[in-house]
Amino acid sequence: MTSDYHRRLPYGERLSAEPLVGHPFFPFEGDVQVVPLDEPVLPEPPRGGENGEDCWSCADPDRDVIWRDAQWKLKAFKPSGLPFVAILEPRTHYRLDNLPPELTATLGPTIQRVAKAIQDLDPVARTHFNRWGDGSEHFHLWFQARPLGMMQLRGAMIAAWDDLLPPIPADEFAANARQVATALAQGGGEAISR
Ligand SMILES: [Zn+2]
Repeated sequence: MTSDYHRRLPYGERLSAEPLVGHPFFPFEGDVQVVPLDEPVLPEPPRGGENGEDCWSCADPDRDVIWRDAQWKLKAFKPSGLPFVAILEPRTHYRLDNLPPELTATLGPTIQRVAKAIQDLDPVARTHFNRWGDGSEHFHLWFQARPLGMMQLRGAMIAAWDDLLPPIPADEFAANARQVATALAQGGGEAISR
C-alpha cells in the first residue's frame, strides 16, 4: 500500500452517510447507503486522450463548440437539469501542468468572461466552475449555472442536481447557448451556430 493515508482506510466496508444526510446541500434523505470502499487501483488506468493519443476532443475539434477564439473553445452538450452547463478547453491538447504561458495568461480572463456570460442568463444567480480532470487528459473546466434562489443547489452537489432535475427543453437550451456565445463573441472570438 502506498501511504499511511491508504493504509488507514476501511476497504470493503460501507462508511456511514450520516455526515451528509441532513446537510442543507445534500439532495438525499432517508436510509442512504454508501457503496463499499474499493481498494486503490495502481497503477491507475489511463484517462481518455492520455499523451494526446485517441483524444476525443482533438479527434472531433468542432463538436458541441458554441464559441471559440484563437486559444480557447466553449462547448455545451445537451439539455440537462441546470439552466446551462458548459466546458472550456484549450484548442490544442494540453494538461493543466503543461499549459503554456500564453494560455495560462488568458485562462483567468476567459473564466471571468464565461462566468459572466452564463450568469447573465435570466434564471441564473451564480456560475460555478470546477476542474476535475479524471475523465479526459485534455484540460477542461466545467461551468454550471446555479439557478436563482435555489439554495439547495449551492456547493458541489450541484453536479448531482444537474442529473436529478428535469432536463430543460431543447429550444431553451439552444437559446441559452446562443445567448452565452453571442455575449462572449462581443468580447472577442466567434459564436458558432449549432
Ligand atoms: Zn486533446
